[in-house]
Amino acid sequence: MFLALEEQCGFTVCHQISKTCDSDPLCQDLLVNASDLLDGGSSCVFTDIKEQIHPTAQEFLANLTPEPSCDRDGCLRAYAAMESFLVENGKWAVDEEHKSFCVKHGGDCVVNKPRRLFSADALVINDAGNCCQGWSSEGSRGRHAHHSQHALLVWVSQRRELAKRNEEDMFFQECTPQFDIEGCLRTPLSSTHEIIDVVTGPECHGWPCSRPRRLGAGLNLNTLVWVGPKGQDEIQACFDEIFERSCQLTGCVFLQSPSAESQQWFADKMKQRGNYAVDAHAAPARFKGGKCLGKVLTSGQFQRYSKYKKQKHALMALDGTFFCDVDHWPDSPGPTPGPLLPTLLRHGTILELESGRVVMASERWLSLGFNVFEDLMCAEVGFERYLWPQRKVVLGLPERAQHSLSGNSQSLPAIMAWFLFVFCNTIRRDPGKLLREPALEAEDVSDADSNVTLKYRPAH
Ligand SMILES: [Zn+2]
Repeated sequence: MFLALEEQCGFTVCHQISKTCDSDPLCQDLLVNASDLLDGGSSCVFTDIKEQIHPTAQEFLANLTPEPSCDRDGCLRAYAAMESFLVENGKWAVDEEHKSFCVKHGGDCVVNKPRRLFSADALVINDAGNCCQGWSSEGSRGRHAHHSQHALLVWVSQRRELAKRNEEDMFFQECTPQFDIEGCLRTPLSSTHEIIDVVTGPECHGWPCSRPRRLGAGLNLNTLVWVGPKGQDEIQACFDEIFERSCQLTGCVFLQSPSAESQQWFADKMKQRGNYAVDAHAAPARFKGGKCLGKVLTSGQFQRYSKYKKQKHALMALDGTFFCDVDHWPDSPGPTPGPLLPTLLRHGTILELESGRVVMASERWLSLGFNVFEDLMCAEVGFERYLWPQRKVVLGLPERAQHSLSGNSQSLPAIMAWFLFVFCNTIRRDPGKLLREPALEAEDVSDADSNVTLKYRPAH
């Protein structure tokens, strides 16, 4: 977003990432790489949000954790008890001296670095994609009884306590549309934050892939004021009015990988299936007419492919484009077949039946807004600046790992629109700042789970 702002509006947003956190070791590796590549190794990479509170509080919550055999009511009671404990004891449980293991620096680092370490004008922002399994149609629909509540409750208590101490100004939050933002954020944070949210996805922005999400933001009532539309319906309507576009293209626009990549995929799968070893250059790049699919798909995948083929005519685009994920049965609560690239899950084998293409891992990244193709944009536009800095590391990972990462990823076009909308409708509560000329003002912003510190500077 900062890159786009610089291109379009000519000002630089100074920012600093201070920490990230993810419980998945694969994500941790990537975050360590991001720290080295983008922050000179300064940002911390923590491994578990549950370990970011005082050890005594950690122990107390661990003792409340329900056994796997516990029934739904028992789980609900356990997580409600955790919530009460954190509300009553947050003052000491969210301890600013607390250290937790940081994989980047190989030792214990301070979790909540005080804002005085950054510029006095900076905003401190936390950005989180909370675990969606408890809320997803794909997941167990455990909702408030799902084990991910433990981490979510700890994260919420951090937001509440840091806002009370004016150590944090705002947060962004991403989850599936079924996420109970009322019960999980708006009510528990009613004394510290104004919470706003929309339901959107890249498909609502003219970007032809599905990823419906509920995007939220919380503004610290002490430091910030929401000056956008009042009321959820009005916020949603205003957001849609600005950003909503219909899709003019199908998901085929993302099928940009060279045919050698597809050939390698077919050759690898044929070997895995034990059909016969074939050199990559002799392998097919497409499955036109379905030939050779039997040699690369499992029997379950092939059965699902046959069922999807029957649906193609009813659901395809005018040019015949029809995507389906053969790891999921038609009519299951999984990814929707049709002209758009279906929602990416942590595993999946997505086919496009008209062109006979299998969607490559690199193309999944592109559909999320991460440009991994160096030759995709013409040189004179200077689009190399928009290439994803981590593309080489990510593309070097096994397919399974890339699917897992991209299936858990946020969609950049949707997230950036949401960030921009929230920033443009938020001002500081400090009346002195409101009276200054915006052009002369060095405004700001900063962020925490990714903690960033931002500062806008007028261009010269
Ligand atoms: Zn560290």
